[in-house]
Amino acid sequence: MIRLFHDPVADTIAACNQLFPDLGNIQIVFEIAPTRGINKRWGWTEFDDDGNLLCVGVNVRCPYQFVPEIVAHEIAHVVAHKEAPATEDDHGPTWERYFSLIFDTYNENLGGEKVAHK
Ligand SMILES: [Zn+2]
Repeated sequence: MIRLFHDPVADTIAACNQLFPDLGNIQIVFEIAPTRGINKRWGWTEFDDDGNLLCVGVNVRCPYQFVPEIVAHEIAHVVAHKEAPATEDDHGPTWERYFSLIFDTYNENLGGEKVAHK
């Protein structure tokens, strides 16, 4: 049996679940997406017109070492959207706060220290 320990993607998801246990079911899908041009994207979060979460996606071409950050980035969008759907710009203070919180929790869970954010 082969086992993988300290998977950074799983650790990021664990930090998100720890912080936001009431987010509901979120499925993160890996899909092929452009990596160049105006349609390039490494991750995405899509909502319908009523503000319901449709999907969280990660570009399957994203280098593995960046996937934890992409997941944290997109989950911060989900949480920020729940808090301030109509007023929050894409990467405003609410999103920044949640992204930093996920990052800090991930690091603390691995025995690291909190990193001061702006
Ligand atoms: Zn974003």
